[in-house]
Amino acid sequence: MKGFGPADAAFRRALRDVLGSDNVLEDPADCWPYGYDNSRRQARPEAVGFATEAGQVRDVVRLCNEAHVPLVARGRGTGTTGAAVPVAGGLVLSLERMDRILELAPDDRLIVVEPGAINRAVQEAAATAGFFWPPDPSSADYCTVGGNLAHNSAGPRAVKYGTPRENTLGLRAVTGAGEPIRAGVRTTKGVVGYDLTRLIIGSEGTLAVITEATLRLTPLPEDRRAIRALYTDIGSAAAAIARVMAQPVTPSALEYIGGLGLDLVRDSPGVRVPPDARALLLIEVDGPAGCVADAARAVAAAAKGAGLLDIEVGGRGEDAADLWAARKALSPALRGLAPKKVNEDVAVPVSRLPAFVEGVDGLSARYRIPIVNFGHAGNGNIHTNLMVDPQESGQVERAERCLSDLFNLVLALGGTLSGEHGVGLEKRAFVTREIDPVTLEVMRRVKRELDPNDILNPGKVLPEPVGPA
Ligand SMILES: Cc1cc2nc3c(=O)[nH]c(=O)nc-3n(C[C@H](O)[C@H](O)[C@H](O)COP(=O)(O)OP(=O)(O)OC[C@H]3O[C@@H](n4cnc5c(N)ncnc54)[C@H](O)[C@@H]3O)c2cc1C
Repeated sequence: MKGFGPADAAFRRALRDVLGSDNVLEDPADCWPYGYDNSRRQARPEAVGFATEAGQVRDVVRLCNEAHVPLVARGRGTGTTGAAVPVAGGLVLSLERMDRILELAPDDRLIVVEPGAINRAVQEAAATAGFFWPPDPSSADYCTVGGNLAHNSAGPRAVKYGTPRENTLGLRAVTGAGEPIRAGVRTTKGVVGYDLTRLIIGSEGTLAVITEATLRLTPLPEDRRAIRALYTDIGSAAAAIARVMAQPVTPSALEYIGGLGLDLVRDSPGVRVPPDARALLLIEVDGPAGCVADAARAVAAAAKGAGLLDIEVGGRGEDAADLWAARKALSPALRGLAPKKVNEDVAVPVSRLPAFVEGVDGLSARYRIPIVNFGHAGNGNIHTNLMVDPQESGQVERAERCLSDLFNLVLALGGTLSGEHGVGLEKRAFVTREIDPVTLEVMRRVKRELDPNDILNPGKVLPEPVGPA
């Protein structure tokens, strides 16, 4: 085993003293399962520790900082970019046993939770008081609030309700130097000091380990309606997206599936997609019971226009769920298209979606790589799946060049390389294309200030080693 460096035995003893022997794994066979995430990358940590309270997180970070041992905070390992993979070895600090709901305060519209709380558990606790926390990744049944904050993860509802950055009032965290900090407020207004809450959210565990989060709650909507609109071409669908976003009713979801995606699900049970449909919009509106029917009518009117083939407005429950059948059938259907998918989650301004989809079609043809587009059109956040068969000669290389051109296209359109999955390892090499050198240097200085020995998740987010202060 590689070990923690010259003070290996002393470090291991100190770790067990802080966490208790039952909360430390050291056998390599036990450590492997904590070294991967949904990117399918894997690296073995030298040990895994389970914190059960914030004081332990502080003490473990201090130990790692003194011994210069890399530390990767871990929720449930559902991230898709390798952000939780311990590529520099060292310690994985799992927060999964810090999963308590600490306080539910409906009057203040907030809930205070530990970082290992599962998103679904937070929703269930909030629902007992008639509220919800808007971030809704489709992994909500498994992923943690700590992971959600570290990646600023969201889902369909972000178009109306925002991401964790808009839905977190404050947090407690431990910096790489082992300092426990408290950022933010318990009020919906607050302007004292710098906004460290927003800085730490989205930083992928590279600046601080989150030990507590004060989440802003929203009342559960009384009612919702789903609308499904089919178009002859993406240009018509993109124009409809722009019309929907330009009218006063904000949809609570505005999802898109492009032509190749529709081809994949056309024959799935419950999916009624005519052969000439090349684009599908799934729209949802929610709100007070007396208003939702009118809101649905307004959104449906905006969705109508040139190229519309069919539009259905569903009721509640199963009726509305039926309209989502195509979206639900898509992910499993992708597996049948090619053995490997390169799943990107780029975002462009909504007004540039037509140019984006046209550009992607061009890249798909030029590099002979099938590309399936679907996703959160209301945020301009499109999951772009390059379908690759590694057995086919030259396809992996063509996919790499196609991906590089795809990122250039996104940036030329004023977009960003990741809307919600983050940088991790996967996009690290491309960060310099989006962030200019001066801004990047300021980010490096922030990192050095909060994590002077570069122990927190080294090798992630920023494009090259940050190095000690
Ligand atoms: C089936 C599936 C569906 C998905 N759907 C979506 C989706 O709709 N939208 C979306 O945005 N994502 C989605 N994801 C990606 C993933 O679920 C999210 O990124 C999620 O927020 C990760 O949470 P986690 O607890 O698994 O974090 P992990 O994967 O364990 O960690 C992710 C990052 O967070 C850091 N981290 C974890 N806890 C802390 C902490 N306490 N303090 C500091 N840093 C910490 C880690 O170091 C790492 O950098 C999906 C994944 C899967 C497998």
